[in-house]
Amino acid sequence: MEDTLHYQPIWPDSPQAGWNLVQVLKMTTTRACWMRCRFCDFSRFVPMIDDHPVAPLSFLQKSQTHTALSESYDLIKLRGGLSFYEPWSYFRSAIRHIHKRNPAPLQALSAVEVQHFHRVEHKPVQELLEEIFWAGAVSLGPGGSELLIDSWRQEMSSLRLSSQEWLNIHRIAAQVGLKSVAGLMVFPGISEQQIWDHLQILRELKSLSVIEIKPLRALGTDLEIMGKPHLFEILATVEVIKKHLPHVVVAMSIDHLSRDVCDLLQWHGVSRAMITKDVIEA
Ligand code: SF4
Repeated sequence: MEDTLHYQPIWPDSPQAGWNLVQVLKMTTTRACWMRCRFCDFSRFVPMIDDHPVAPLSFLQKSQTHTALSESYDLIKLRGGLSFYEPWSYFRSAIRHIHKRNPAPLQALSAVEVQHFHRVEHKPVQELLEEIFWAGAVSLGPGGSELLIDSWRQEMSSLRLSSQEWLNIHRIAAQVGLKSVAGLMVFPGISEQQIWDHLQILRELKSLSVIEIKPLRALGTDLEIMGKPHLFEILATVEVIKKHLPHVVVAMSIDHLSRDVCDLLQWHGVSRAMITKDVIEA
């Protein structure tokens, strides 16, 4: 495997796949997180006393009353940072309310949150996942799988779960009925070897159906200086995924992208294009 990532142009008359536009409602539980991943703008520790940026019960109330939940969506994504304020039951109730109020497929929390509550409340992982499924989610989010290479994780997000822990949680999630969604963060200078190593881990997840591409956007973090990946790095990454895991749907947010860029993404194999229709913040 070469270390350099090569871009192979694909011409407009050879599209790789269809183009499924997905209108998304994004719901954010909190914009602060004790895990302090270097690439994440939620990475801000919340002290135990006085400084929680989210008023008590506000997200739960919004999950019961926010008018956006009466609209129509193709996907609802529930994500956010982690503090030590809200118990597991708070998030389980919020998922239940959201699902009762809107029939769209709900992607709720991630293996990172599951690991957090497993540690903090000593609940078995399987029980947490069964409760997420019972509450109405169809899948976990891809959080924790930005790049499943433990040396990279050690440098970028050393407090988070390891590649094997992420994999194990998603294996159990598949057993309880949750679909498997992974991610891949494209950062400037990403190598083919790194993408290959990431995909080798994902290969072990037989139930994997979707990989969400996430270009690094480290605004407000110490990685901001790295800038954003070049479009060719994103296209080449999609090519590597399609070559090694051709059965997996490649998804990407197309918010703020031009029509030309969207065409290129489609021609290279992105087949699920996510557009943020509404946002609910706690
Ligand atoms: S665990 Fe998720 S929300 Fe928390 S800092 Fe890391 S990437 Fe951000």
